[in-house]
Amino acid sequence: MTGPHSAPVRSSVRKDSVEEELRFLRNRVRELEGERDAANRRLHELHASVAPGYPQIGIHPIGPPSPVPNPPNTDAFRASWIARTEARKRKYCSLNRAGNALCAWHDSRRERRAYPPRMAPPGHLNCGCTFEEALFEESLARHNIGSRHPGESVRMDPALRNPLLKLLEQRYRYRDGDFERDPITGTWVEGEGHAPWETRASSGSSKKREDDRRS
Ligand SMILES: [Zn+2]
Repeated sequence: MTGPHSAPVRSSVRKDSVEEELRFLRNRVRELEGERDAANRRLHELHASVAPGYPQIGIHPIGPPSPVPNPPNTDAFRASWIARTEARKRKYCSLNRAGNALCAWHDSRRERRAYPPRMAPPGHLNCGCTFEEALFEESLARHNIGSRHPGESVRMDPALRNPLLKLLEQRYRYRDGDFERDPITGTWVEGEGHAPWETRASSGSSKKREDDRRS
């Protein structure tokens, strides 16, 4: 007689346990597939709800037009991004004691300000630049595109800086922080999360004193 029942007891036991394990593994695969589907659905919901217009998975048949990676879609990362940008605004867009906030370019010139002290509309500096333009100026400078320091010869003229920002925003959905994210993972490169920026923003008093002297 041949067949499974003729096998010795030991291997039959082994076979049962192998079958049991297979059953277990198949169930586990199904569970994980379910979790993956749920996670993918959540991913799409988050893309749609939080960053409308940000490059989304699947809408570009040949891939997104942007080399910028999609950010990790977690509430924690999104919160970190917002906190980081707010800290940078505190550092680079706050009023000095004279009631002026200026981008580095306009700070170095003696031109008439677009708005009198404390009169800039929300999101704008007294020089007329927006907060985003001022943060972009700083982001460019840290990548050696124009210096922010007075006296250094290569500066990023707002006449170039602002249309470049607009182009990056329109074409690549650029947002402040994109240059500081890891190209593969989309997360912050070292030292660029919200926490270090909050520290820098709260210890920006020496920079502020410098600004006060200048205005
Ligand atoms: Zn300006």
